[in-house]
Amino acid sequence: MSIPTLTYGCTGCDSFCWSLMKHAGFYYLVEETRFQVYVEMGVCHQCTEIYPIEVFPEVAEIRQLKQTLETQRAQLFSEKAQHDQANQSLRWWQRKKDLPYALSQLNSSCEDIEKRVSNMEQTYNALSGRIALPKCLRCGSTEHTLFPSYQNTGNDKDFLGLKHPRCGGELIVINDGLRLNVKPAAIGFDIEANKL
Ligand SMILES: [Zn+2]
Ligand SMILES: [Zn+2]
Repeated sequence: MSIPTLTYGCTGCDSFCWSLMKHAGFYYLVEETRFQVYVEMGVCHQCTEIYPIEVFPEVAEIRQLKQTLETQRAQLFSEKAQHDQANQSLRWWQRKKDLPYALSQLNSSCEDIEKRVSNMEQTYNALSGRIALPKCLRCGSTEHTLFPSYQNTGNDKDFLGLKHPRCGGELIVINDGLRLNVKPAAIGFDIEANKL
């Protein structure tokens, strides 16, 4: 399955990184258990590469996800009840066994959020004794700048309003409809984000 991919680059040199790298499956390894590393794209001031930067899950974010989950579950529950009720008024050969498309979508969305909450909580707890600040996952530096979250403007190319520490060029994001079908290799770290 190909994934829509943004290209982060620089007007002054040929540095670039695909947003696909965010899905590389960075993980912390703690006593044989893997926990997801959360990342955002950014630029590192030490290695000067455009690369995923570690971010820590926050309580507010987890709480918000849980609220969304609660709302969606309530909606699922009530729509399913309506569906069952409508089905009961039909004769057996008219009844539909499968859930309507919208309901099954809602169901998988709930499952998806549930999994995200659980992963995020696990990482949050695993990081409870963490000492170092979030790091560049390429070189381990804590001196970096996260890119602003991408808003689709409809332009092929947008300026991020940041300069590339290596060459002083403007950092840009290119949204040219690129889709990639590669899965970057997973990279493991200890809980202080030192590469294993
Ligand atoms: Zn540059
Ligand atoms: Zn770096």
